Amino acid sequence: MNDTYSGKNVVITGGSSGIGLATAKLLVDAGARVVITGRSRTALDAATEYLGKNALAARSDVASLPDLDALAARVRDELGTVDALFVNAGITSTMPFASMTEEMYDESFAINVKGAYFTVQKLAPLLNTGAGVVLTTSAANVMGMLETSVYAAGKAALRSMARSLSRELLPQGVRVNAISPGPVDTGILESTMTKEAADRFKAERAAENPMRRFGSTEEIARAVAFLAFDATYTTGAELVVDGGVTQL
Ligand code: NAD
Repeated sequence: MNDTYSGKNVVITGGSSGIGLATAKLLVDAGARVVITGRSRTALDAATEYLGKNALAARSDVASLPDLDALAARVRDELGTVDALFVNAGITSTMPFASMTEEMYDESFAINVKGAYFTVQKLAPLLNTGAGVVLTTSAANVMGMLETSVYAAGKAALRSMARSLSRELLPQGVRVNAISPGPVDTGILESTMTKEAADRFKAERAAENPMRRFGSTEEIARAVAFLAFDATYTTGAELVVDGGVTQL
């Protein structure tokens, strides 16, 4: 526990598990008040119990604009203003190009792209001068990996938004950057793949990584906190945290 982020208000979408939860934990333990969102009441309750009294849960589907309006109203009531917005909610939909369905394509873009875009739009009026927005891209957005065509395209769209939204929000004194994680074992794969497919995918990712391992959620969380709070002369950038897989 420390007071590095004491007095800071944070919103994290998809904060009940994985990278979002680890980031919430880091920030709550350093004194921030954090609103986490997600679709599952049970997962949100478990997360707030784990995080303690400085965490609040808001059930909210990022693909639903009425939900995002309700989230903004709740955040305004509970926190007033926001110092950091971590746009983290996302799904991984792996499928060979030839088998991709319209339904999977639309779901992926509705959550990963539209959801991220309107999360920023709806919460922007609450962002304080000096606030940091962090969009979650992926190492996949600059790679030509099998079975990730739709996911990777959506994450590349977010990379672009980090540039254009940072220009739009500059007059408000708000910075917008992107975090680009490499492989992190959070269970996200198992939520949309069979265990065998997830195991195969993970083994391939570890083998091709220069560090021969996955990253941890804590390693991503520290980079998110840096972008959100400490990178005060950085906007429109993407910070790659991927063991070097897209850099070496
Ligand atoms: P995760 O499944 O633990 O986290 C995703 C979170 O988003 C979950 O809490 C989930 O409930 C939430 N979510 C999904 N759809 C939602 C919706 N419609 N509305 C609200 N919340 C929703 O997985 P994670 O690995 O922690 O993923 C977090 C982010 O990191 C995602 O955007 C993912 O694409 C990105 N990412 C992950 C990896 C990795 O290897 N794990 C790599 C690169 C990027």
